[in-house]
Amino acid sequence: MAANKDTEKKELSASFQMNADISERKERKPQEFYDDIKAKYAAERELRLEYRPPGSTFYQAAEGDFAHYEHDPHATEIDERDPINDEVEVLFIGGGFSALLTSARLRQRGVESIRIVERGADVGGTWYWNRYPGVACDVVSYDYLPLLDEMEYVPTRHYAGGSEILAHCQAIARRYDLYDLAVFQTTVTSTTWNEADQRWHVRTDRGDEMIAKFVVCANGTLAKPKLAVIEGMERFTGKSFHTSRWDYEWTGANLENLADVRVGIIGTGASAVQIVPEVAKAAKSLHVFQRTPSSIDIRDDWETDPEWAAKLAPGWQSKRRQKIIDKFRAQADKRANLKGISRDEKIRRQENANIDAMMRIHARIDETVEDPATAEALKPWYMLMCKRPCFHNEYLPSFNLPSVHLVDTQGKGITEVGENGPIFEGTEYPVDLLIYATGFEVQQTGIYNSIVGEGGVELQQKYSDGIRTLLGIHTAGFPNMFIMGGYQASFQFNLTDLLQVQGDHIADCIDLVRNGAHETLDAKHDREDWWVQEVISHRGKTNRNAECTPGYYNFEGQENRRQDGNYNGGFHAYIDHLDEVKATLNDWFVLN
Ligand code: NDP
Repeated sequence: MAANKDTEKKELSASFQMNADISERKERKPQEFYDDIKAKYAAERELRLEYRPPGSTFYQAAEGDFAHYEHDPHATEIDERDPINDEVEVLFIGGGFSALLTSARLRQRGVESIRIVERGADVGGTWYWNRYPGVACDVVSYDYLPLLDEMEYVPTRHYAGGSEILAHCQAIARRYDLYDLAVFQTTVTSTTWNEADQRWHVRTDRGDEMIAKFVVCANGTLAKPKLAVIEGMERFTGKSFHTSRWDYEWTGANLENLADVRVGIIGTGASAVQIVPEVAKAAKSLHVFQRTPSSIDIRDDWETDPEWAAKLAPGWQSKRRQKIIDKFRAQADKRANLKGISRDEKIRRQENANIDAMMRIHARIDETVEDPATAEALKPWYMLMCKRPCFHNEYLPSFNLPSVHLVDTQGKGITEVGENGPIFEGTEYPVDLLIYATGFEVQQTGIYNSIVGEGGVELQQKYSDGIRTLLGIHTAGFPNMFIMGGYQASFQFNLTDLLQVQGDHIADCIDLVRNGAHETLDAKHDREDWWVQEVISHRGKTNRNAECTPGYYNFEGQENRRQDGNYNGGFHAYIDHLDEVKATLNDWFVLN
């Protein structure tokens, strides 16, 4: 065990390793070096766009013939129950961290009637579904796991594994009595505002019609498995599944059944990066089908030092979180106040620092991967943060095993699967097990069920010219409804930071209605207009769409309506806006 007395200091610096200090930056190489790399980035982007012409479909939902890819392998039996027709005060659509941490805040404010409606057979959301071998969160656990102060819990490792995170979700649900009213294996199909009783009427696929005063859309940002559109997928005669639906009955709990199995994995995103080392150790052979490499940085993991943990004072996590936010703010202020440096120069320095970081990642590949062609193919050619950065110490060495093979499709991707396995450039790669590591549908509007607000307006209809929200949480005409984690909210690498500030805000709003003896709270239209403009004004600050390699971070490199994305003004600025709203709640909402 590493003696990590200085854990917090280490943590805080690790959280900022990607934010170069451009004010003190010393150029290490001539500008031509960086210009050449940028030209290579552009060429790689163009190559990928060529294979994804506008209007083409690259992904499909796991529906119709492919619906089995969404079946729950963790609870194959459906618990029979009668339809529910009752009323609760707050209803959450989804039972992941959004619902859990907001519920905790509501309990602290005395709200008793809280129901979670969840598709899975338990709480946990992402961590309920994703149980693949090697699953872990590579955001530091002391920051990622929410409510550590309240739960008086210190994670066992620097990076928590999936099972520990799921157990934490379950512990929160038990601690705050959220299992009492929760319904599982239930999907909400419609949420309709009833003018007569001023309540939401929520229907489900189990025949329920539940009534709720407040509804929180807590259904997650990456919740539905998505499959690449690959010709012949249905022809494949072997076993196949999506990473988020790992079939341990087939592979064995410790992958022991894979000893004689040839495995193929399509995709090399954050899920595949965690799975590859585990399968590489267990399977007869492994073929990894790559379209675009991920950036793989060092994963500095260790067991929590019990002495350090014992010394943590009550409230340690909140203080730690505050320190991180203060540091973000200080960095942003420093950047904004840089005198005598033009905007273009700031961008140039930032880009060069980013390229230096990526070249360090390239050098690590050269040092680790023995076969030069494989090493070359594993190098990402795009700015760090164009895609989700990954951290792993075993992923790259896996490619040194004689049983592990990288099939680099050079941006094209696998476009055909035959009876025996994926086909690339006329060669079929026979496998017994094919794992789709192709990611998740990106939640664009925050909405999967039909949501109908005041005047019979459907939310999708309201959004037809672009998303319209206040802070990404409220949308006018849909009183007492809140959206968590969706677009027009701030981007935050540690998602639970965002969910926590949103949860606090939602609890404040619900409190305002209850304590003011009101029935409803709805965003004012002019305030919503202001936020949409605010989102648009900051969208220009990122060149992601124009310069990044395609992926779900930038709508696969296609044009998007400018307001349909995250708020890019910075997390600290988003928090400032939430604080401002908190101080003047009555100015922002119509209360009836
Ligand atoms: P991603 O969407 O990140 O990755 C999908 C992968 O599939 C990409 O590499 C994509 O290539 C590839 N792909 C798609 N179609 C094809 C094809 N036809 N042929 C070959 N490759 C193809 O999904 P993940 O499940 O990996 O991750 C989703 C998100 O979940 C992450 O971005 C992260 O936010 C989160 N996550 C977080 C973890 C953590 O530690 N905190 C761990 C795991 C996931 P291309 O890049 O070219 O599009």
